[in-house]
Amino acid sequence: MDESVVIVGAGIGGLSLALSLHARGVRVTVLERAAELREVGAAVALSANGLRPLDELGLLGELEKVSAQPTALIHRGWRDDERVTAFPVGSDGSYRRRFGAPYLGIHRAEFQRVLAGACPAGMVRLGCEVTAVDPDGTVTLASGERVRGPVVVGADGVHSRVRSVVDPAARPRYTGTSAFRGIVDVADAPLLPDPGAIQFWMGPDAHVLHYAIGPHAEQINFFAVLEGPDPWTGETGPTDTDPGTLARAFDGWSPGVVQMLTAVPQSPRWPLYTLPPMTRWSRGRVVLLGDAVHTMLPHHVQGANQSIEDAAVLADLLAAPGALDGGHTAVFDRYQRLRRARTRSIQRSSLVTSGLLHLPDGPAADARNAGLTGLDPWLTWIHGVDARADTRPVPA
Ligand SMILES: Cc1cc2nc3c(=O)[nH]c(=O)nc-3n(C[C@H](O)[C@H](O)[C@H](O)COP(=O)(O)OP(=O)(O)OC[C@H]3O[C@@H](n4cnc5c(N)ncnc54)[C@H](O)[C@@H]3O)c2cc1C
Repeated sequence: MDESVVIVGAGIGGLSLALSLHARGVRVTVLERAAELREVGAAVALSANGLRPLDELGLLGELEKVSAQPTALIHRGWRDDERVTAFPVGSDGSYRRRFGAPYLGIHRAEFQRVLAGACPAGMVRLGCEVTAVDPDGTVTLASGERVRGPVVVGADGVHSRVRSVVDPAARPRYTGTSAFRGIVDVADAPLLPDPGAIQFWMGPDAHVLHYAIGPHAEQINFFAVLEGPDPWTGETGPTDTDPGTLARAFDGWSPGVVQMLTAVPQSPRWPLYTLPPMTRWSRGRVVLLGDAVHTMLPHHVQGANQSIEDAAVLADLLAAPGALDGGHTAVFDRYQRLRRARTRSIQRSSLVTSGLLHLPDGPAADARNAGLTGLDPWLTWIHGVDARADTRPVPA
C-alpha cells in the first residue's frame, strides 16, 4: 500500500499514533486545523501507563528533562489541609520500579514540542481543517483539497468532526461541572503544603487538583473544579466568566489553596464533558481514537494517557502485514475489543469520582476518606496495565 495513513488532529493521540506508525515504517500524513501547534489546557500529568509507550519510542529521556516528578499522590480535606492519604509516586523511586516508568508533570507546550520535534519534516500538515470524511477513506479539507488513505484515523478531540461519520448520533454530554486552571510560581504560594506533590483537596461541591511542572518543579499547575453551572450556556470550550467567580467558590478553603488559586488572574471557565459509550468505533476505513471516542472527565488524570495507549495499540495492529491491504476491518474490530472495556471503566470511574470528590463534610465524606486508603489497587489497575501486552510484536 503506497498511500499514507491519514490522521485527523495533531493532538496528543494523533502525534503519538503518527510517531508509533513512523517507527514501524508506515507512511503517515497528519492533518491539523491549527496554523501552529498550540497547547490546550496548560499542563498535563503523564502516568507510567502513558509514558511506557513513549519510552518505547525513545522519548522518555527528553520528556524527563523538561518535567517535574511529583513526590507523592496526596488527598486532603478542604478546610484544614488534613492529609487523608499519601502514596509515594516519585521521591523514593518505588513508583518507577513498580510500573516501569515515572509519573511526570509537564507543560503542554513542552510536551507537544517533544512529540512534534520527533516527527519527520512534512508529516504534519498545519492549517488543514478537515470538513468532511467519507467511509471510503477520502478526506476533504476546507480548501477543497481531497486526501485519500487506506485508513483515516479521527484523533480530532472532544468535539470531533470525524465521529459523525462513525455515529451521527454520538455527542459529548456536559457533566454539570466546570473548571478553572492556572500556572503559579511555587514562590507565590508559600502557604501551600507539599507543593512538589500531586494533590487533591476535596470539599463541598468542588475540588482542586495540582501538580508541579518544569524541570525544577518551580511551577504548579492547578485545576479547580466546581459543580455547575447547569445548564452550560457558554461556548463548547473555555468561556470568559464573571471575575471573582473562582475566588468566591473557594472562600473558606485552606489558606494555601486560596493563595494558589488567587495568585494568577482567573482563567476562562471550561465546561467538562463525557461521551456516552460508543458501541462502534469505526465505519468503513474510518476509525476513532482518544477524546474523539471516549472523552472522559480528567479526575483520574487519564484522558491524555488513554489516548497514548490507544495510539500504541492501533499502531501495532496497523503495522502488521496486510493490515493496510484490505485488513482494516479485522484491525478495527480487534482494536475496539482491546480498548473499549478499559477506557469505558476509567471513563465511568472518573464520573463517579467527580461526585465523591465534592461531598459535604459528614458520614459519606468519612466513608470516602476511609475508602481512599485502599487507593493502591486503583493505582495498579490504571497505571500498571500494559496496553500493548496483546499486540507488541515478538522480537525475531
Ligand atoms: C483542563 C483539562 C486538563 C486536563 N489534564 C489532563 C492531565 O493532566 N492528564 C491527562 O491524561 N489528561 C488530561 N486532560 C485530558 C486530555 O487533555 C485529553 O484527553 C487529551 O488531550 C486528548 O487527546 P486527543 O489527541 O484525543 O485530542 P486533543 O489533544 O484535543 O487533540 C485534537 C486535535 O485535533 C485538532 N482538530 C480538531 N478538529 C479538527 C479538524 N476538523 N480538522 C483538523 N484538525 C482538527 C485540534 O486542533 C487538536 O489539535 C485534561 C483535559 C482538560 C480539559
